Amino acid sequence: MSDELMDYDAAMELFEPVLGLEVHVELNTKTKMFCGCANEFGAEPNSHTCPVCLGLPGSLPVVNAKAIESAIRIGLSLNCSIAERCRFARKNYFYPDMTKDFQTSQYDEPIAFDGEVTVEVDGREYTVPIERAHMEEDAGKLVHQGATGRIQGADYSLVDYNRAGTPLIEIVTKPVYGTGARAPEVARAYVAFLRDQMRALGVSDVRMEQGSLRCDANVSLMPKGSTRLGTRTETKNVNSLRSIERALRYEICRQAAILAAGGRVIQETRHWHEEGVTSPGRNKEQAEDYRYFPEPDLVPIAPPRAWVEELRATLPEDPRARAARLQAEWGFTDLEMRDIRGAGALEPIAATVTAGASPAAARKWWLTELVRYANDQGIELDEVPMTPAQVAQTQQLVDDGQLTDKLARQVVEGVLAGEGEPAAVVARRGLAVVTDEGALQGAVDRAIAAQPDAAAKVRDGKVQAAGALIGAVMKEMRGQADAATVRELILATLAR
Ligand code: ADP
Ligand code: MG
Ligand code: ZN
Repeated sequence: MSDELMDYDAAMELFEPVLGLEVHVELNTKTKMFCGCANEFGAEPNSHTCPVCLGLPGSLPVVNAKAIESAIRIGLSLNCSIAERCRFARKNYFYPDMTKDFQTSQYDEPIAFDGEVTVEVDGREYTVPIERAHMEEDAGKLVHQGATGRIQGADYSLVDYNRAGTPLIEIVTKPVYGTGARAPEVARAYVAFLRDQMRALGVSDVRMEQGSLRCDANVSLMPKGSTRLGTRTETKNVNSLRSIERALRYEICRQAAILAAGGRVIQETRHWHEEGVTSPGRNKEQAEDYRYFPEPDLVPIAPPRAWVEELRATLPEDPRARAARLQAEWGFTDLEMRDIRGAGALEPIAATVTAGASPAAARKWWLTELVRYANDQGIELDEVPMTPAQVAQTQQLVDDGQLTDKLARQVVEGVLAGEGEPAAVVARRGLAVVTDEGALQGAVDRAIAAQPDAAAKVRDGKVQAAGALIGAVMKEMRGQADAATVRELILATLAR
């Protein structure tokens, strides 16, 4: 079974995409949302459970104050209003991984609502309107046993309830219009923005590969010129920034082919597969099917205004203001800044400067060797296995005259290859610049003896002729000498 796809550019001639993004963020609170169990990834299965998160009869939930605090700070950072009073609601469903068969969530009374954020793609700003950010709990996890590790073809499944009751914030956009052909990139930039923002707030590990940041990507198409929303699909399982972009592109091409052939898009959830396709999941329930009703076991939340204002004062610097401030501090041009942000290098560069490198040096490493490595590996810049501190250490070796730029590139290569800290790579690969005066002087004397013509010219004052002699010395030193030092030594020797 393979989908009919329309070419992306052709689809953009005919249709206007509309996005809807639902992002789940797992909070990094010490304990779960409604009980005192540890909120910890990767523990022994079912070791962090109690009657509340197992949903045993008679158990009563108590809301986690720290989770409320995080929810409010997240809402404020997305420019949302914070509810004066809000309640939890039960979302009833058959959850094999949550025994009470309802999820404690928020429905018509979210804690935060009506916000907006601005993201940048290729120098253009796009406003993403936020519908709501609400609190809920995560379900447990099914572990399918069988050759594939997936539910299809599994022999049996095991349940791990450690994740049940993990505090989640779901951030839902309003329909996002006006992104045109940039829709997939805007979606990616938005999720990247949320990830950076949550990290700056310190409320979540936001690791997409571990599922602490998850995105469901909705998209529909409107014929160009129309203002009537089309039917959307909701693609799940997109667990990297790159996948968000790819999945949306795929859905746009698939929906365009259906609509152009006179067909109708089915409203459904779909699953993303890393091979590059989506496949149909379940037909989407309507809200009525969940029989939402206010949670009777929890008191309403009414955050005092003074507390909300206190929390507002703890927000990190606005990302755009921060970028402008760093640009001024670093003395970079608009174009340089755009390249940096486009490459996702702002934070790595900032951290490298904090670790002691000059802005220019930090920029050089992140926008050349490291971005190339990330592209080759298909990973994000902040996932490359070299830390900003290691980049700064490498640059320090250059500044101290222990490495040339060329040798430093080999050090970077070594660190990326897992050979250890920069100093260890220098030692292991024998990369340090030769500073032994005796060894250098020997090479200089040999170069002068081998090229008497060049030496004579230099003696006559034609200093450019020293280039050939420098080249010969550098070659003998296998590049491990500082060219400026070699040049001085040659001139001094010939002046004797
Ligand atoms: P569900 O519970 O079905 O996931 P939500 O309202 O939680 O629905 O989320 C749906 C997301 O899709 C929201 O971001 C919403 O703004 C967006 N959306 C709704 N209708 C459309 C549409 N026709 N096209 C694109 N996005 C849409
Ligand atoms: Mg949803
Ligand atoms: Zn518990």
